[in-house]
Amino acid sequence: MQLYQSQEIKIQNSLSGKKDVFKPLNEGHIGMYVCGPTVYSNVHLGNCRTFMSFDMIFRYFRHLGYKVRYVRNITDAGHLVDDAEDGEDKIAKKARLEKLEPMEVVQRYTVDFHNILQKFNFLPPSIEPTATGHIIEQIEIIKDILEKGYAYVTNGSVYFDVIKFNEDHEYGKLSGRKLEDMIANTRELTAQDEKRSPQDFALWKKAEPQHIMRWPSPWGDGFPGWHLECTAMSTKYLGETFDIHGGGMDLKFPHHECEIAQAEASNGHSPVNYWMHANMLTLNGKKMAKSTGNSILPGEIFSGDNAILSKSFSPSVVRFFMMQAHYTSILDLSNDALLASEKGFNRLMDALKILKQIETSKISDFDVVAWKQKCYDAMNDDFNTPILIAQLFEAVKHINAIKEGRESISAEDKTLLESTINAFVFDVLGLEAKNENEGGTDKLAGVVELLIELRKEARDNKDFATSDKIRDQLAGMGIQLKDGKEGTTFSVL
Ligand SMILES: [Zn+2]
Repeated sequence: MQLYQSQEIKIQNSLSGKKDVFKPLNEGHIGMYVCGPTVYSNVHLGNCRTFMSFDMIFRYFRHLGYKVRYVRNITDAGHLVDDAEDGEDKIAKKARLEKLEPMEVVQRYTVDFHNILQKFNFLPPSIEPTATGHIIEQIEIIKDILEKGYAYVTNGSVYFDVIKFNEDHEYGKLSGRKLEDMIANTRELTAQDEKRSPQDFALWKKAEPQHIMRWPSPWGDGFPGWHLECTAMSTKYLGETFDIHGGGMDLKFPHHECEIAQAEASNGHSPVNYWMHANMLTLNGKKMAKSTGNSILPGEIFSGDNAILSKSFSPSVVRFFMMQAHYTSILDLSNDALLASEKGFNRLMDALKILKQIETSKISDFDVVAWKQKCYDAMNDDFNTPILIAQLFEAVKHINAIKEGRESISAEDKTLLESTINAFVFDVLGLEAKNENEGGTDKLAGVVELLIELRKEARDNKDFATSDKIRDQLAGMGIQLKDGKEGTTFSVL
């Protein structure tokens, strides 16, 4: 029996507007798609929070024994500046400004994205497809939508006909917008506009001669519209209907609304059963924006190299901080909040160490079985990590009381407490224990310096056998000595 058979999960579903009981399409299996980053700059801390929320959700499903196919894409083409319908491709713009090939931009920032996520201890998704790797699939969907009559070609571009679609489908059902209101609130089209209605969106854009990212298509050289890639990749890897689609709140409209329209126009039914949206991260109470200076990169938090925080914070502390808020709430990052999280994180890690050492007795003052279910209840209630963390601190209180002899725990309960707390802290929340060898690098440096000194003495005494032995054996351990004018230095490979 798998754990998921005894736990009922409720998910805040943006499509129904309420918490729905989660039932996957195929028992024991989950298909989940999350909109990934547009790789034209260093990954934004706010985006990290969104991806971290879905990493935690992915982890919890796996912990419950589900087989999850988690697809998170990389947008490497088609995302235009300001999310607008006209304008430059974000990656092409960066490539032009920095005189790079667009794929150099993509490579550089994909590597940065993976590095940061690895520091945050993310699990890799099952598939990480790219938009440029799925141009053919996107063209096929456009052909399909054209054939069904929900799109039209103008001057080498293809647009989705929102008004036609809304005649027999509901455009706006995810974001709760009404097409009539949208039309009333937008400007009139001018004669230069290629679109029939301002709400129409591009499925394929004709590439102007100077546009560097372009592909051949039945409508001429061009590039796909941004919304289309997610429909193409989610359908390809998860099917026409799948369980969960996630992303940041800002993607609900128009991006996800357009995804629904494209899928329904192409295959006739709703693509996703549960739409999940993660909320944003603010900095010192204000929206993060590079232009106002109210912005910080993940790497700048880890290194302490920034003008906003008083010290550096480890990725695990930042992760713990983010997990202390529910993913659907706005979270504000500040120096005080991070300092408080660091204190809490250390207290939790210290309790885990104490737990290993505490003595057991015949009876328990702590009902571990009931506590364990409360942890699951928290997670089952729309992945409520702040309540889970409160439960973990409830256990910390008992652990400290047992250590001080004010309470006792049986051997059986201690084992259960240890396995449960470890599962939630490390497997589900994805935290990493504090480095037990903290300060170990300093000690290593001291030992190597000592060996360098002994080697110098040996050489001065013409004892080359000893000096070579020290150098070679250190090299064997991956520590390279380098003799220079200023003396000998070392590097750890
Ligand atoms: Zn997307």
